[in-house]
Amino acid sequence: MLKTTLAGSLPKPGWLAEEEKLWAGWKLEGAALAQGKEDATILAVKLQEDAGLDIVGDGEQARQHFVHGFLANLDGIDFGKKTIMGIRNNRYNAEVPTVTGPIRRKAPVHRMEAMAARAHTKRKLKFTLPGPMTIVDTIADEHYGRREDLALAFAAVLNEEARELEKLGVDVIQFDEPAWNVYMPQVAEWGMAALERAAEGLTCTTAVHICYGYGIKANIDWKATLGGSWRHYEETFPVIARSKIDQVSLECRNSKVPMDLIRLLDGKDVLVGCIDVASDTIETPEEVAATIREAMKFVAPEKLYPCTNCGMAPMTRGIAYGKLAALSAGARLVCEELGHRD
Ligand code: ZN
Repeated sequence: MLKTTLAGSLPKPGWLAEEEKLWAGWKLEGAALAQGKEDATILAVKLQEDAGLDIVGDGEQARQHFVHGFLANLDGIDFGKKTIMGIRNNRYNAEVPTVTGPIRRKAPVHRMEAMAARAHTKRKLKFTLPGPMTIVDTIADEHYGRREDLALAFAAVLNEEARELEKLGVDVIQFDEPAWNVYMPQVAEWGMAALERAAEGLTCTTAVHICYGYGIKANIDWKATLGGSWRHYEETFPVIARSKIDQVSLECRNSKVPMDLIRLLDGKDVLVGCIDVASDTIETPEEVAATIREAMKFVAPEKLYPCTNCGMAPMTRGIAYGKLAALSAGARLVCEELGHRD
């Protein structure tokens, strides 16, 4: 019970990429870059083990960004044709590539890091992919026209990739959908259908991560406008509860999300965000334990997975791994209270 895990990304080592940046540039090239990505993946897995996580990930060490890392190996996207676009309903501008033809997967995208991670840990392995709606919200389109059609095109290639990751021994495949906290009515209209298409036929555990974004200024400023009770999940959780997706990863720590919204996820595993990724203050184990205890009012410990609020890519490594260690220590405190020792 109370198995710990992380939302997805971790900071990259300074020898691999620029530090403390969200869209960090690589510092290596060619074969050295490929080797560096593999080495960083293995290191991230080992550091997560040392921090005590039960379910580890690749830390997204081989991708520049959680969306565009996946898009880089697809046909139908012109990366030279950049469009400055307001994303997440114009919360911030990003320079995004453009869809100019049918979306097809040219080759496996994440095989290298999945194999490297699998070869170097005996713990459960989780892998993240961007969700279809979030991809659609992070790319310009000159070919498909309708967002739902573009989402289904991406869902088909995500499914190919996910099935392959499962064959490589990945235990949990999580689709990241921060856009679900922005376009709530569209989740029911077409977002969930696209996500279920992406997860079609998988027998491993499937998850969706929905959050209020990385701890960057645009997101922190946006949160300041949302008032004292963030009820975005209230619209989407019932849709998820009816779906085939097994797990939901949500933001809780230092957040104004009412914890009782978890009730709407009856039957699902809940990955409770106990770590604030927008603060450099490392939580104490007792603070983590307090969040877990609060969540346990609404979800059984067997279905509760202490987790981070979101990815940690823009943080410093020492703080990020310090937070993961606090997460494990906090979960251990509650396990001991419950009389459960591994
Ligand atoms: Zn997130």
